[in-house]
Amino acid sequence: MTRPAHVIFDPQAVRANLKQVRAQAPGRRIMAIVKADGYGHGVVRMAQALGDVDAFGVASIEEAVRLREAGITQPIVLLEGPFEAQELPDICGHRLESVVHNPEQVRMFAAHPEPLTLWVKVDTGMHRLGFAPEEVPAVLAQLRRPGRTLRLMTHFASAHLPGDESVAAQLAAFEEVLDGETIECCCANSSAVLAWPASHGEWVRPGLMLYGVSPFRGVSAAELGLRPAMTVVSALISVRTVAAGGGVGYGRGFVCPEEMRVGVVAFGYADGYPRHAGTGTPVLVNGVRTQVIGEASMDMMAVDLRPVPDTRVGDPVVLWGEGLPVEEIARAAQTIPYELLCRMRMRAQFIQRPS
Ligand SMILES: *Cc1c(COP(=O)(O)O)cnc(C)c1O
Repeated sequence: MTRPAHVIFDPQAVRANLKQVRAQAPGRRIMAIVKADGYGHGVVRMAQALGDVDAFGVASIEEAVRLREAGITQPIVLLEGPFEAQELPDICGHRLESVVHNPEQVRMFAAHPEPLTLWVKVDTGMHRLGFAPEEVPAVLAQLRRPGRTLRLMTHFASAHLPGDESVAAQLAAFEEVLDGETIECCCANSSAVLAWPASHGEWVRPGLMLYGVSPFRGVSAAELGLRPAMTVVSALISVRTVAAGGGVGYGRGFVCPEEMRVGVVAFGYADGYPRHAGTGTPVLVNGVRTQVIGEASMDMMAVDLRPVPDTRVGDPVVLWGEGLPVEEIARAAQTIPYELLCRMRMRAQFIQRPS
């Protein structure tokens, strides 16, 4: 038997989630965000599951090239633009589109006459990337060339926080830039797709919701009609009975309050499980909800078998995904679901469900 740690990828869930995006943003074009190797799901796997979206957003030329080599023909947008001028021939050669967010990139593209599509990023208040609203007209003028398409985008800092006033302020700043310009624009990440219809513009730019995860703390993915694309599974490799007072794992991370059955799962932090999700973090054994005990070690972690009768070595374990939202694990680990999904590039083998 090979090591049972696997990531199950469900293309049908991805398509159901895409339908939700279309329902929330009817008539808008969709740039599906597949950076960080498709949030850990595999950039090519995600693009193939998504099918006929209008564009893909990635963070590097390497990801874009992987999509082109897999036969993906839609527009691909480099969300951080080029990091150095040497990348321009590849951008043109692979027919990529690019964000332009700093003066160095303006100089690079101003020096190149190619009829590219460029997305000028406006910093409306997140203060991460982009030009101040008052700089935008001059940037557009520098980039304008015959046959070149220019578009505008901005990114919200707090669209995931219900009722946060900064979103309306950012949107107002963006609309001021648009005043007098006829130009397509794109502002909405998943949380803005769901919560800020006024921000939609010609294009929307969802990531997280396509993977079937809720961007809001108090709202579950199921309530939003989203289904997890990723289910992380493994199996029990040891089942033992530990006496009352017996410690489990490094540093006696858990001390058994009574004689109890303890299972060991072939999955650890080297597989991407968060070490900070300790005792009390939910886990499914044979489909029954129980808890992690102690902290994950490198390749293994212990689980409480008291609620699960008749367990044996080889029984299936779900770490997160179908039946156990990754949002819950993220909360237990004091992180966000995005980080946990991205970690699945680390080691586990992928299994693909039928499309
Ligand atoms: C990652 C990213 C997105 C997608 O955000 P989600 O919260 O995953 O929907 C959209 N736009 C930009 C610029 C991003 O970097």
